[in-house]
Amino acid sequence: MSFDFSQFGCNVFSDTVMRDKLPKSTYKELKKSIDSGKPLRADVAEIVAEAMKDWAVEKGATHFTHWFQPMTNITAGKLDSFISPTPDGKIILEFSGKELIKGEPDASSFPNGGLRNTFEARGYTMWDCTSPAFIRDHTLYIPTAFCSYTGEALDTKTPLLRSMEVISNEAMRLLHAFGNTTSKRVLVTVGAEQEYFLVDREAYEKRLDLKICGRTLLGAKPPKGQEMEDHYFGRIRIRIADYMHQLDEELWKLGVTAKTKHNEVAPAQHELAPIFDSVNIACDHNQLTMELMRVIAKKNGLACLLHEKPFAHINGSGKHNNWSLCTDDGINLFEPGKNPYENIQFLTFLCAVITAVDEYADLIRLSAAIAGNDYRLGANEAPPAIISVFLGEQLTSILKQIADGEKPHNQMESAFLQMGVETLPKLKKDDSDRNRTSPFAFTGNKFEFRMVGSSASIACANFVLNTIVADVLSRFTDRLEHTKDFDGEIHRIIKDTMEQHGRIIFNGNNYTQEWVEEAARRGLPNLSNTVDAASAYLNPKNIDVLSRHHVLSEVECHSRYEVLLENYSHIIVIEANTLLEMIHKLVIPATIEYIGMISDSFLKLKEAGLHNQSMEKILTSLSELLDGTSSLTETLEQLVAQVPHTNSLEAAGFCRDQIRPKMEEIRLLVDKIEVLTDKKKWPMPSYTDLLHRI
Ligand code: ADP
Ligand code: MG
Repeated sequence: MSFDFSQFGCNVFSDTVMRDKLPKSTYKELKKSIDSGKPLRADVAEIVAEAMKDWAVEKGATHFTHWFQPMTNITAGKLDSFISPTPDGKIILEFSGKELIKGEPDASSFPNGGLRNTFEARGYTMWDCTSPAFIRDHTLYIPTAFCSYTGEALDTKTPLLRSMEVISNEAMRLLHAFGNTTSKRVLVTVGAEQEYFLVDREAYEKRLDLKICGRTLLGAKPPKGQEMEDHYFGRIRIRIADYMHQLDEELWKLGVTAKTKHNEVAPAQHELAPIFDSVNIACDHNQLTMELMRVIAKKNGLACLLHEKPFAHINGSGKHNNWSLCTDDGINLFEPGKNPYENIQFLTFLCAVITAVDEYADLIRLSAAIAGNDYRLGANEAPPAIISVFLGEQLTSILKQIADGEKPHNQMESAFLQMGVETLPKLKKDDSDRNRTSPFAFTGNKFEFRMVGSSASIACANFVLNTIVADVLSRFTDRLEHTKDFDGEIHRIIKDTMEQHGRIIFNGNNYTQEWVEEAARRGLPNLSNTVDAASAYLNPKNIDVLSRHHVLSEVECHSRYEVLLENYSHIIVIEANTLLEMIHKLVIPATIEYIGMISDSFLKLKEAGLHNQSMEKILTSLSELLDGTSSLTETLEQLVAQVPHTNSLEAAGFCRDQIRPKMEEIRLLVDKIEVLTDKKKWPMPSYTDLLHRI
């Protein structure tokens, strides 16, 4: 049956529902709060809560939850029912304004990077009315921001909300300088393309590594990977199409604008892209998308893998974060304009991004840092860990021409003429979108940050981008507000950008070794792993920009640094322990058993007077591989016991330099054993079983 599109957003307490269910004056007050970010009056909150509860109960909800996004890349919340006992032993359903606005969960069990003392375990969740409440699984979900008793952010949403305001204010200042008197706010628009894998549930359940770590720690190279290039955009198999259809329907009911779906490059890999939205909502919707992908997979006998690198030998998954700025009256600030005046404004915004990305390349790299992404970035399947900006030849040469040109006259019109900007053609998206290897590409009317990990929240990437671009916009506006020669100053801004930050522009193939060398010559940072990238949180210039704009305080930067490193070490240690368990309980017993079987046959033949050389060869290889595996496993065990607990950087460095390489060594041997072993005796599904079974 086809989807009844009148049901789109039917589980969302949307603007239409609010208008319908709230008294006019309450609706107006709430809208004012949503638009201005100012807190809602207690009496108004009371009325909103009552209406929300009635609507939710009508739709079958029994509970509500303050839904928040701790620093775990997933969401959290506890459920409270609406029931409240009455003296006559019955119950009524209640939901107060206070309950809507504020929750007090015990926050001590969430990552906090030393921000909280356990005796001050209280945390607050505060309603974020800019993202609509919705109903899922008989529960009213209220999007909230999560902070400590003393007001420090413990989540990813709080800095994102703060950064949205900062960039709106700074972009508006610049627009005013350009004479814009109509726009009131600037929104950050984001569309996050989500990659994922689907594997058969039964096979998945037999893989401890997939279940515990989300990625395979072992697995011989399958005969067929992605070399035929027959999966990308290929026909979607019926079982997968069914899954995608159910996913679309559930997302649509929640108001998520799921738009595009297709098969990706690797076998069993797929992608879903929504239509872009305000970044806060895009972020919430991406979290919902990831959750529903997992849940619906399970219902369909499938498992959804969101890890950045579930399988060796084939591509991993990422998330393309499409980012742009749009005024409340609908002007996309990265859309090249129709006239010289608009074009010059576009180029100024473009220069702000170029400058920001160059100055804060380490912070942008950090914003995509997560253990799983270290296996992907720089592996010729995803952008390298080096940040650069792709503009396309056309736009680069326009900027260069302007930078190299003569200082223009004062007079507006002639200035633009001299800059050659009036001829700025409408950029064809096809021209600018051809390069798929760049980590940060201008794609016609938006930037596409392609480094974010598939399992990560997009919040960090966006609050970083918003803040650093806002900071540069602010500097540009200061210059323009203090000059008597507006056109000349714009010209100097473009010139300065190209001279001081042109090195960040790279239009070539980012996957090549030549680029790695060229980038080093240009002095661009190459932070190849999470541990190195984490230090950007401690870099004074980064703390300065984040704290000056009140997005993250110095203390919050330190806490995020700790959380990232702790998380990294935990992941590696869990992976190592999982590998050890698989080796001891599955690989070694299976290998011994198989060796025993061949030995028996070998001896029987020998009794019959035959000396079989191929059996002897297999036995020797397996026996050597088994010895090698055992001894490396012992070393790994010792290493895991030696992880230093003194400081998070040392621990993470130890995990990266000692544990991870040892796991790789073990894998090499075990994968060889797998190749030599009878399939019926191998104790877990193979890569082919996982990738080509559906
Ligand atoms: P592709 O990257 O495959 O060429 P599209 O350009 O159509 O695909 O869009 C990719 C994503 O970018 C979609 O999620 C889309 O909604 C989003 N997008 C398009 N325009 C904007 C914009 N102005 N701001 C933010 N995201 C956008
Ligand atoms: Mg894309």
